[in-house]
Amino acid sequence: MAELRTDRANFGFGLMRLPRLEDGTTIDVEQTKKMVDTFLENGFVYFDTAYAYPGSEEATRKALIERHPRDSFFLATKLSMQTTMTKEEAENLINVSLERLGTDYVDFYLLHNLSGNRIDFAEKNGLWDFVKELKAKGKIRHYGFSFHDTPEKLDEILTKHPDAEFVQLQINYHDWDSTDVQSRKCYEVARKHGKMIIVMEPIKGGALANALPDSVKAIFDKANPDVSYASWALRFVASQPGINIILSGMSTLEQVQDNVSFMKDLKPLSAEEMAVVDEARKTLASIPLIECTACEYCLKGCPKSIPTPGIFKVMNRNTLFPDIKNAKTSYARTVAEKGKASDCIKCGLCESSCPQHLPIRELLSKAAEQFE
Ligand code: SF4
Ligand code: SF4
Repeated sequence: MAELRTDRANFGFGLMRLPRLEDGTTIDVEQTKKMVDTFLENGFVYFDTAYAYPGSEEATRKALIERHPRDSFFLATKLSMQTTMTKEEAENLINVSLERLGTDYVDFYLLHNLSGNRIDFAEKNGLWDFVKELKAKGKIRHYGFSFHDTPEKLDEILTKHPDAEFVQLQINYHDWDSTDVQSRKCYEVARKHGKMIIVMEPIKGGALANALPDSVKAIFDKANPDVSYASWALRFVASQPGINIILSGMSTLEQVQDNVSFMKDLKPLSAEEMAVVDEARKTLASIPLIECTACEYCLKGCPKSIPTPGIFKVMNRNTLFPDIKNAKTSYARTVAEKGKASDCIKCGLCESSCPQHLPIRELLSKAAEQFE
């Protein structure tokens, strides 16, 4: 019978970036089985999938649920919320999830990505009552939500819904004091409400492991050349009191082996090591970025419907965590069905409404050069 540790953070397997076969779309189930088995053999028991991750729930059934006793692990999945969704449609989605997973219950069920207008619509459309009813029916054991908004909004939700059993937050050393994610403040709100905390993005989608700038790598290499960059990021999160589960979305057997090796005998960072991470964070924060506040004023009236703030976000991320392949994919996703940077006709309308006085036309030319 699986149990979660209470003396320190548990390690959870995020199943959203599973390995793919050569066609690039089909999940490599045989490789996933090896990863799942290695994870379980090392004493870890928490798996996180979602309705919205293509193929993930089915692969979870094949690699995990059909091969291991159902009570030997904890399973989390999530309700994808469309802003028009009714309770009946939500019922349909959990039934699809259960069918894909081949199980009659999930342990942790999340309202997926509470943020922006989803917060209000979850209220209005009765989704909080819905998850309560699912629990009463035994289809889920616990309910909570993943969250991407401000600490003030988080406080509001947790005050309104003290019955929410857990909250899943984006926490990593880079976003700890950032103005957009505000990891630290959200963490403090969750602590104030006494919630179980599950952490997502502890390595920022792999960026803090695979795409650090050389200046930051040098800081970690000098401190300890024998450990991975991922281990610094994961140990930083694990060093915060009251973190219950740390999820890592793993894509290869090597990543599972590396992560379990230090999560198994997890040691919080010492004061000296914490200073190293602080230095890395400060170095990242000192890298000049496009100072776009995502106010979206520039979008109004653009004759080419160019998603400028989204494009600048991709440029900034690629400046901080250089990974051109990943950046091109994010760029393509950002401009899909909108205008590309190269579609800009340089009319200048956007620049006259930009409170940051950004040279938008020039920056879009750079984006086109880099990503198209
Ligand atoms: S300059 Fe380019 S991005 Fe700005 S409003 Fe005109 S077409 Fe749109
Ligand atoms: S108006 Fe300027 S600051 Fe606002 S989103 Fe557009 S580029 Fe960013």
